[in-house]
Amino acid sequence: MRTSEIHRRFLAHFEKKAHEVVPSASLVSNDPSILFTIAGMVPFIPYIVGSEKAPYDRAVSVQKCIRTNDIENVGRTTRHGTFFQMAGNFSFGDYFKAGAIDFSWELLTSSVDEGGYGLDPERLWITLWEEDQESYDHLTEVIGLDPSRIVRLPWEESCWDTGQPGPAGSTGEWYYDRGPEYGPDAPTGTLPQWPGDERAEDRYLEIWNLVFDQFLRGPGKGKDYQLLGELDQKAIDTGLGVERLAYLLQGKQNMYEIDQIFPVIEKAQELSGRRYGADEEDDVRLRIVGDHVRSALMLVGDGVRPGNEGRGYVLRRLIRRAVRSMRLLGHTDPSMPHLLPISLRLMAESYPELEAHAERITEVVCAEEDAFRRTLETGTALFDQVARSATEGGGRVLPGDEAFKLHDTYGFPIDLTMEMAAEVGLQVDADAFRAAMQEQRERARADAAAKKTGHTDTAVYNRLLTERGGEVPFLGYTEDTVAT
Ligand code: ATP
Ligand code: MG
Ligand code: MG
Ligand code: MG
Repeated sequence: MRTSEIHRRFLAHFEKKAHEVVPSASLVSNDPSILFTIAGMVPFIPYIVGSEKAPYDRAVSVQKCIRTNDIENVGRTTRHGTFFQMAGNFSFGDYFKAGAIDFSWELLTSSVDEGGYGLDPERLWITLWEEDQESYDHLTEVIGLDPSRIVRLPWEESCWDTGQPGPAGSTGEWYYDRGPEYGPDAPTGTLPQWPGDERAEDRYLEIWNLVFDQFLRGPGKGKDYQLLGELDQKAIDTGLGVERLAYLLQGKQNMYEIDQIFPVIEKAQELSGRRYGADEEDDVRLRIVGDHVRSALMLVGDGVRPGNEGRGYVLRRLIRRAVRSMRLLGHTDPSMPHLLPISLRLMAESYPELEAHAERITEVVCAEEDAFRRTLETGTALFDQVARSATEGGGRVLPGDEAFKLHDTYGFPIDLTMEMAAEVGLQVDADAFRAAMQEQRERARADAAAKKTGHTDTAVYNRLLTERGGEVPFLGYTEDTVAT
């Protein structure tokens, strides 16, 4: 089943159940306190916290999401994308636990011919709050789920809240058991996902999170708060990972191999001459390319431009990581002009508006690749020089101030310097690098203070300009922790 079909079926299923179909909001959230839309419920927050009256009792959406906290997972777990689509159904004071469980169960397990996803009911597990008897009874008595596949957890491990006084609730998470070839059996009565065991999480794949907003919580940090009573208007908020379901239904090993991403990886193979499946490190890089190209496409599609801070910096980092991954795969020529149009064609199946902006999106992404390629070229010459003088006397350390210079003047991410250093048997003096960064921060602070008092000596900028014979290249000095 194509990913776009999973998307379509989700909306159709809930539309049949009298849900208002709400289009995906932009990735750029209206809420200035979060950079990006990170979940399907974000656009509905006012209805859930009750600050606004919802114009409908039931809604359904497939929301575009960006999660930068998952960036290091990309390509290494089977299930984390920086961009992904979260399908969700919502009830604002209408149906509650039993309704949410019924709707999700029906969609997951009804046959493909009947409009469902056709998952084997025997492979589905669910986690619940141990005191949520209502859901437990419904699952065992009405749905007929085997109690050995219901995992009951303490509040701390199963609750949801906004971190502030307001609505809170327990959750039910649907997991799909991919089978013993993906890891050991879950010990009876424990979670399909036991903390820190990545393998377990890849065997028992979390696919759908149901949130039952039932209580009002008081103040307190973390999980240290009291439940003050039941909400007047209870709510349901759910999120199904479209890509996760796609990889299960398409019989693939991970989300990067689905129809919406893999053709980009195939092109990257062709460009680089590396074969997917031959080497684990290469595979990770190819998956990073597949993921990041798509995220960049969707971000630029929603109006984000590369920059040195905030959203723009996230976009810049994604493009750079994709470009670097291609270089590490041995492809040093521009790759975005080849990869981006493929991703665009694939995503346009669900987001036809991308076609209208194809030219602009391609231009932005390709220009950013070109800028980074120039950075790499100039920086590499300096790096070689520094590395040579470091190794000459049999040294093993690349001085921190040189790493800082590469970073500050050429926009060379520190991890790139570290990796290139490792390739020639050197280790970067990270402490000295950090100290130089710190010193620069203090300098910047002092400059800002001077500016406020109107005593900035602009001569220093002029001097820099003449020394360098032109514009001072500002390539960004945001702390960059790009991996691989
Ligand atoms: P995980 O524990 O696997 O990181 P999560 O609990 O952080 O997932 P939720 O916040 O519950 O995820 O989001 C709802 C659903 O969205 C998940 O059940 C999953 O199917 C999907 N999802 C979450 N994060 C990602 C991601 N980075 N890439 C793809 N799908 C995701
Ligand atoms: Mg997560
Ligand atoms: Mg989880
Ligand atoms: Mg979850």
